[in-house]
Amino acid sequence: MPEIELTPTLTIPEHLVGEVQTKLAYVDERIIQAEVAGSGDMIKLQLFQEADDETVHEIDEKVQRVVTSMVKGSFKPKVQVLEDFQDRPVPYRLDPHDELLARGELNQEATGIFALGPLVTNVIEYFETRFLELAGSFEAAQHRFPTLIPASYMERVNYFSAFPHSLTFATHLREDLDVIDHFAQHAACNEHGALNTSRDSFASTQTLLSPAVCYHLYFSLADRSLPKGQVIATAVGNCFRYEAINLTSLERLWNFTMREVIFVGPKEFVLDNRELARQRMREILGEIGLAYHVESANDPFFIGEFRKQVAFQSAFQLKYEIRARLPFKESTLAVGSYNYHQDFFGRQLNMTLEDGSPAHTGCAAFGLERMAFAFLAQFGLDPQNWPPSMQHIWS
Ligand code: AMP
Ligand code: ZN
Repeated sequence: MPEIELTPTLTIPEHLVGEVQTKLAYVDERIIQAEVAGSGDMIKLQLFQEADDETVHEIDEKVQRVVTSMVKGSFKPKVQVLEDFQDRPVPYRLDPHDELLARGELNQEATGIFALGPLVTNVIEYFETRFLELAGSFEAAQHRFPTLIPASYMERVNYFSAFPHSLTFATHLREDLDVIDHFAQHAACNEHGALNTSRDSFASTQTLLSPAVCYHLYFSLADRSLPKGQVIATAVGNCFRYEAINLTSLERLWNFTMREVIFVGPKEFVLDNRELARQRMREILGEIGLAYHVESANDPFFIGEFRKQVAFQSAFQLKYEIRARLPFKESTLAVGSYNYHQDFFGRQLNMTLEDGSPAHTGCAAFGLERMAFAFLAQFGLDPQNWPPSMQHIWS
């Protein structure tokens, strides 16, 4: 594979290396791997095919835009650690991915899309019972939300400017007999799995695949006063975030599942419950014996919004992540988050408290595939090495 090396005009500070690297995935379709190297003063890109000077120049210009936008004027957010159980002893050290594939427990259907077998499913079900126990402790009302979400909803909460890179669009053939007949007779996939259908056969895009669960609850409460002034709800759902070449294993999926416990009401109500959720989860994760820590974090905003939003989230302590240890690579993986959105959704969606002021919102969100993956990375695939309270789920 041809590789090119670029020199960023600004050195990328260590705390931004990961964030810049993931954004480089969206710079140009010809990039198949991107790495920030040296001490943040070199960018290595692997390209799909040999590049002429003009192409390199074009890519370089876009790379510099990303770097400048994310690095210029940025400062290192103060990382706040709320819990640290990274040192819990765990029995396993290998990457479970290959063994799961070998056992038929994972079937990769496409990039970032995996079918899961019975062992992983049982582990997920176990975590689900624990999350439902958490939701039950708040007497959260159970909901079921669709996988599709209207584009007009996402527009109302500024999703397009914040996360354009990760959107997934849903469409259908135009209601036209000629178009449908033509498709039925000629549709075929090329060697990359792409349909040969022309774009004008598809209807305009009014619908997306939902990137999170809690939005659906906020939309159901939009343009009115909250019942009893506060709501606690829970739901599990399919979520979609297109992560380009960063979609490598179960760690980062295009299509994943999230369980959320959602709080809507006055500021103190949301903040107190978010804190309570964290404390109750600490008990549950402690019983399981998971090695993890909880620290302040930010959402993966796209480059234009990145600097401003990250500073804002960090200043107001809006997001904390549960980062589970992955012993096989001595790193951590975000398996869940505790979020507070202030009155952002209340204002955007005209969701009001009894006194007419905008409602505040927050959620505890858990990624089911990542929870299972982190658990298997720490405890392995043999239930004999699992915590005794979990051995019954797989024998
Ligand atoms: P977030 O709303 O970004 O905090 O996401 C909540 C949780 O969903 C994260 O902590 C992850 O466990 C999970 N999650 C987010 N993005 C992905 C992804 N691309 N693949 C798998 N799990 C994800
Ligand atoms: Zn949420």
